[in-house]
Amino acid sequence: MVAEAPAPRLSDQRGVAITEEPAPVPATIPEPDWDHAVELIHGANRVLLCSHRKPDGDAIGSLLGLGWTLEAAGKHVTLACADAPANALATLPGAERIVQDLSPLYTVGEAPPWDLAIVMDASGLDRLGSIYENNRDLFAALPLIDVDHHITNDRFGIANVVDPTAASATEVLSLLIERLGLTPNVPAATCLMAGLMTDSLSFQTESTTPRSMRVAARLLEAGAPVAKLAFQLFRQRPRGSALLWSKALGTLQFAAGGRIGWLEVTRAAMDAAGPGADSGGLSGFAGSITGVDVGFVLEEGQDGNIYVSLRSATVDVARVASEFGGGGHVRAAGCHFAPPATIADARAQLLPAIERALG
Ligand code: AMP
Ligand code: MN
Ligand code: MN
Repeated sequence: MVAEAPAPRLSDQRGVAITEEPAPVPATIPEPDWDHAVELIHGANRVLLCSHRKPDGDAIGSLLGLGWTLEAAGKHVTLACADAPANALATLPGAERIVQDLSPLYTVGEAPPWDLAIVMDASGLDRLGSIYENNRDLFAALPLIDVDHHITNDRFGIANVVDPTAASATEVLSLLIERLGLTPNVPAATCLMAGLMTDSLSFQTESTTPRSMRVAARLLEAGAPVAKLAFQLFRQRPRGSALLWSKALGTLQFAAGGRIGWLEVTRAAMDAAGPGADSGGLSGFAGSITGVDVGFVLEEGQDGNIYVSLRSATVDVARVASEFGGGGHVRAAGCHFAPPATIADARAQLLPAIERALG
């Protein structure tokens, strides 16, 4: 008789013990914040919607998902993001409506053409980049709703609809839309679903809960084309990105006996890769290597900043990022180093901080 081999455990296959639980977070949004947000939105006619610079699927999905919904409810909306959506995100319905500059619509010192601002998927106003920097007085003058799911959110709104247990800002927004008594139309459901699918990596993250699945089910019922989204958002990639990966993977390095792995993306590599080059996904790749506890990418931005994208299945990288003025989630976070810092400077500061976090 042959003894039955024990079933392989997930932790054996992954090469790391998946035992460490993320820190507990406050689960629910206070009722007064929900009520206040609902009241402000019902009372507004002209709404400015904003999401974070260098937008990901959740940032664009939030802008467009709420934009379509409020427009269908008869409100005027302006959709603002400091950077235009790239690649697949530019194909989401309404993406061409997103503006990068408010100056054609608003003059500093004059009455704003909006009566409410809603900021989504941003842990602080500084995450809006030039949309905030060029219009600080506007954000001080308008009533502001903060809709987010980052653990590092600094509650900058007069209503803060912030739930760090949500898998995406669009998960929170879908609940808000329900509380408004509205139902997303097909383009709205498509964009809200895009945010949920991208931030949860198609429901693979620890942040995926039964509630995420329930929200997703309702978005499917409302007409979100899940197979088409999965293809566009996850499987298809522009040639420029493939070329960038071919360069970036050659920069792979390890530290701390293989527990830290990282890639470096220079401006030259970005420019050589050409149109469609996008570093998204590279930090996840670095973090996915067996034995690596923290994976990260250093990227030279067009604006001269060095942008850092951190990923980990075992370490609180939001805490590491916050040491450098950034933030994010326990498993995915980011920060940047301003000029004259170089990639080498950023690396020299980050590696010791990550090693400390490894314990
Ligand atoms: P990324 O690596 O750019 O995909 O970002 C990972 C997560 O960290 C996202 O949720 C971002 O919104 C957040 N994040 C990135 N950079 C910053 C920053 N400078 N400050 C706060 N949060 C950030
Ligand atoms: Mn985001
Ligand atoms: Mn998000």
